[in-house]
Amino acid sequence: MSHRLKHALHRRLHRERFRLLDELLHNQTLSRAQLLAKQARELDGIIRFAYDHTPYYHEKYAALSDLDPASLPILRKDEIIRHRDAMVTRDLDKSLLKTGSTGGSTGVPLSFYYDEHKSQLMRAGMCRGYMGSGWRPGQKILNFWGARQDISGSSVTQRLRDFIAAEQTIPAYQHSEAQLRQWVETIHSYRPVLLQGYASILAELARFIDDNRLTVPGTLIGVYSTAEVLYGWQRELMERVFRCKVFNQYGSREIPNIACECRHGNLHVFTDMVHLESCPIDGEERIVLTSLTNRAMPFIRYENGDSGRLLEGDCACGSPFPLMEMGLCRSNDLIRTRHGKRVHPSYFNRLLLDSLKDIRQYCFIQETLDKIILQLVTSNPLNRETEKNLQARIRAEVADEMVLEIHYPAEIERTSSGKHRFVISKLD
Ligand SMILES: [Zn+2]
Repeated sequence: MSHRLKHALHRRLHRERFRLLDELLHNQTLSRAQLLAKQARELDGIIRFAYDHTPYYHEKYAALSDLDPASLPILRKDEIIRHRDAMVTRDLDKSLLKTGSTGGSTGVPLSFYYDEHKSQLMRAGMCRGYMGSGWRPGQKILNFWGARQDISGSSVTQRLRDFIAAEQTIPAYQHSEAQLRQWVETIHSYRPVLLQGYASILAELARFIDDNRLTVPGTLIGVYSTAEVLYGWQRELMERVFRCKVFNQYGSREIPNIACECRHGNLHVFTDMVHLESCPIDGEERIVLTSLTNRAMPFIRYENGDSGRLLEGDCACGSPFPLMEMGLCRSNDLIRTRHGKRVHPSYFNRLLLDSLKDIRQYCFIQETLDKIILQLVTSNPLNRETEKNLQARIRAEVADEMVLEIHYPAEIERTSSGKHRFVISKLD
């Protein structure tokens, strides 16, 4: 079946999604000024809606003299956990809503409600992002998905839907060498146009292909990396091995489609879906988001723990959507010392650069103010001298009293959402 025919069937199956995609594509033809004016209207709209229709925001904003967006209080994760049900729009039957959850290495998952409209809009938004690579609806996508909750069953109906949708999802929650080999075979037999998945999983697959001198089919035109920080070394490795461009997507379960990279490697913020600002919190420029589209459970001025900021200027790609940059780390990835120093995760990633070739997975975990555990999954444990060197560098560059303990587990456990974190602080 040609991809055009499949696409025609898919459109019939998901009329709402493709209607929304048409709308999103139309927004790309607006000017920056038109987009920002539309965003401001929608921001006022969702704030007013939340105030009028949810018990939580009604109470939270009751004492304010007006609903000026910039003066509204920030919404923190712990507040969502405590007030989740009061954030849901009154008179909506919760049993008809969908629930999603985020993992989070802090151990407390955040759950939230959304409706079918939001779900279709999320898929449409992802399609628009993919189109930046030259992909067109109906062309095949192979997803490597870590979170258990999203993996559909293997019923005949589901397989038929996957076939028509030209999409396949590989459960990549955990894997062995044999599975990596199996995935490479799937890439060859399925011949996808795009790969999509967590940066750590795709990078590991790329390393496996590289180490074993395997190849990938020439059908690939893009790799979409999502849900985790994408490090420069992962991007280089993937672009070399998959022989196509890597596009970083920025979004989360609770607020999808925040931004996506274009062919020029710049992150464009989808102002027709979110309002993004950064606020100085704990010495960082923290990202604060308002979803313009989730009316079942509004998220207004939500601080999601990431750092980053909007950038001035235009991109050569011609997209009217404004640019942003990520601050690499999430707030709880910072390593702290007894003397109040905070060390960025990129330092720890660079520390292993020379030895990376043999390391399949790694994770630095700060246990106490004076102790970091480095977990390494590798077939060749570091020799005594390399271990000593690492310890010496950390003492010299991070803190004199910092002890580094190196462990060699068979596998590093992912967080409950399937994400892999490279640097985790257990302080606080
Ligand atoms: Zn661009």
